[in-house]
Amino acid sequence: MAADRSARCADAPSSRLRPHTRRQPWILTYHSVTDPSDDPYGITVSPRRLDEQLSWLRSRGLTGVGVAELLRTEAAVRRGLVGLTFDDGYADFLGEALPVLRRHGCRATVFVLPGRPGGVNEWDPLGPRKPLLTHEDVRRVAAAGMEVGSHGLYHQDLTTLTDQELGRETRDSRALIGDLTGTLPEGFCYPYGILDRRVTAAARSAGYGYACALAPGPLLSRFALPRTHISQADRGVRLWAKDLRHGLRHGAVPGTGSRAAAPERTGGRR
Ligand SMILES: [Zn+2]
Repeated sequence: MAADRSARCADAPSSRLRPHTRRQPWILTYHSVTDPSDDPYGITVSPRRLDEQLSWLRSRGLTGVGVAELLRTEAAVRRGLVGLTFDDGYADFLGEALPVLRRHGCRATVFVLPGRPGGVNEWDPLGPRKPLLTHEDVRRVAAAGMEVGSHGLYHQDLTTLTDQELGRETRDSRALIGDLTGTLPEGFCYPYGILDRRVTAAARSAGYGYACALAPGPLLSRFALPRTHISQADRGVRLWAKDLRHGLRHGAVPGTGSRAAAPERTGGRR
């Protein structure tokens, strides 16, 4: 419904002022959804703040969907969509984020770590230990209609790995998720948002259809999609500013290859 309205109003002034109507889709990055009082990396939003943020998106005619769905959708309809992603596969997704997403009629991509079933975020030196989804939980996420993507096996900086290790992180995690959900995942997400050409090539050759970064710079492509980090502090004006910044930076459609001539290593916050 929202998408139809957006398509009809494509030339209206209010629509021209909405930068997310540009061709590069807008994708938001969440991590944990729970009490954010102890959160040194700014990766946690409360369920209530998520509810407010999704309300804000809906008020602007945007519906949250998973990235595969977002990329599949033709441009005219995509104007009414925004990608929602949840990195690291925190166990709080099922109890806290999913009910809020459902209330707003939204879907999302959850990037899980099938090498750490029921584990914790050991890779973070600071902050609380946050439980991760078990394999059974990953099945429940898929059964709830959410897209399950891979964040690798163990949450490692992929640029530091040997070719063999990199192959395991990309290929084996894809196969494991396929075994769990019955569907080989289309999406990959680089841990810490860190990538280089070798890593994007590995994601592509492992059979994924797209991969998410944070700020991929000149590596921008379908295998290095930019995303916008969302925090507990993000409310109306800040969200509007982030939407605007995304639109100003990314007017172009990501190609299948990188635009950079030289090797490039880019990173992000998480
Ligand atoms: Zn991560």
